[in-house]
Amino acid sequence: MKKSAADIWEDLKGQVDFLTEAGAGFVLKPAEGRSAAAPRPAPARDIKPQPPAAPPLPSLAGLPAQTAAERRSLEEIDKQVLVCKLCPLHKLRTLAVPGEGNRSAELMFIGEGPGRDEDTQGRPFVGRAGQLLRRIIAAMKFREDEVYITNIVKCRPPDNRVPHREEEEACSPYLIRQIELIRPRVIVTLGKTPTDYFVPGREGMTARRGNYGDYRGIPVMPTFHPSYLVRNEGNRELKRMVWEDMQKVMALLGGK
Ligand code: URA
Ligand code: SF4
Repeated sequence: MKKSAADIWEDLKGQVDFLTEAGAGFVLKPAEGRSAAAPRPAPARDIKPQPPAAPPLPSLAGLPAQTAAERRSLEEIDKQVLVCKLCPLHKLRTLAVPGEGNRSAELMFIGEGPGRDEDTQGRPFVGRAGQLLRRIIAAMKFREDEVYITNIVKCRPPDNRVPHREEEEACSPYLIRQIELIRPRVIVTLGKTPTDYFVPGREGMTARRGNYGDYRGIPVMPTFHPSYLVRNEGNRELKRMVWEDMQKVMALLGGK
């Protein structure tokens, strides 16, 4: 589909806005000998007996293209989420937020959970942090309707607190199914909550961001949550780091 002049203008505007904030002209440094695939061995005293591991879920890499039935399943998930009562978060929500965008997107963004604006509108990432995320997407030369944006929990946690483990456990089957059906080529996890879920690690986000992890054959790029950037508005270094991470995503997706 050809872009309209208005679309192209919006893309360029978003791109220039974010790149200016990120500090134009910086050079992307190669990662300094770090590898996502090399977890540190745990010190002996931390080793606890583990319950038997569940069988690993099948790889999602190299599967055939999405079918019409899979597409309908994605629409079905949205409907289920809208009326879901599987965890206590349903009691406080105005609207559940299943996610939005291209249901066969190559690139998927996963946040933590809806905030106040998202809860009122039923759409992900529409508040201040969301506007910043949407400018980052434009700077990556993607249209919003080319990517898929969603969250690990689909209903707003009270006062925007971090979702409880049980809420994540109750809700994540929706997200897992979305990933299985959309089969993005790359996933970006925004902030610690979704990063911990998909590529668990002991280090903080500053150490983990920018290093690809793997979820069932799909590369996962952790980066800072846009609300962290909003809270630290004057900190250009954070924006520069997020932009560096997104350049790695763009490099993997190839010529946009
Ligand atoms: N923060 C999130 O993690 N998700 C949203 O949808 C909005 C803000
Ligand atoms: Fe259902 Fe998820 Fe909402 Fe909980 S957060 S009620 S599991 S949709």
